[in-house]
Amino acid sequence: MSVNFCSKCGSIVELRSIGGSDRIACTSCDYIYWGNYSIGVGALIIKEDKVLLVKRAQEPGKGFWTNPGGYIEQMEPIEETIVREVLEEAGIQAKVKSVIAVRDQPREIHNLYIAFAMDYVSGEPIPDGEEVDEAGFFTLEETKSMNVAGFTKWLLDVAFQPNSDGLIKEPLPIKALEKYGLFRV
Ligand SMILES: [Zn+2]
Repeated sequence: MSVNFCSKCGSIVELRSIGGSDRIACTSCDYIYWGNYSIGVGALIIKEDKVLLVKRAQEPGKGFWTNPGGYIEQMEPIEETIVREVLEEAGIQAKVKSVIAVRDQPREIHNLYIAFAMDYVSGEPIPDGEEVDEAGFFTLEETKSMNVAGFTKWLLDVAFQPNSDGLIKEPLPIKALEKYGLFRV
């Protein structure tokens, strides 16, 4: 990635060795470019042995069935993001139970994806008609004849594993931290 001017003050930037790595740093203010990152979240909601899937209506992955999910916003707690995405995409109210998988994808925009197991609360699957054009609960057997995205197949394998709760939501932290999402074994 090439950055020529400081995004904070507009001055010329330079390459500077900081902590053993060459970083793009401003020549006149304290700005340092640490990289470009994004965080995706996904929901695995199993209700009576059926998992909630949506069919993508837009690229990337148009026509593929995936679990619902999206990207976190700057100031939005991650648990609120996933609850919102599930409701928006599939019309289902669900609540976070645990973290069951993480995917790390270093690339131009370094992406981290966090998969949550969620408990179904209420609602019938209704696609939003924009990001997704179908939504429903399916058995693992049914998903095998569907056009399920490769990564989603892997997540289904994780989600249907018995006796594994992953990292569960901290019910009672030793010290309560406001606006922190805490998950533990
Ligand atoms: Zn600057």
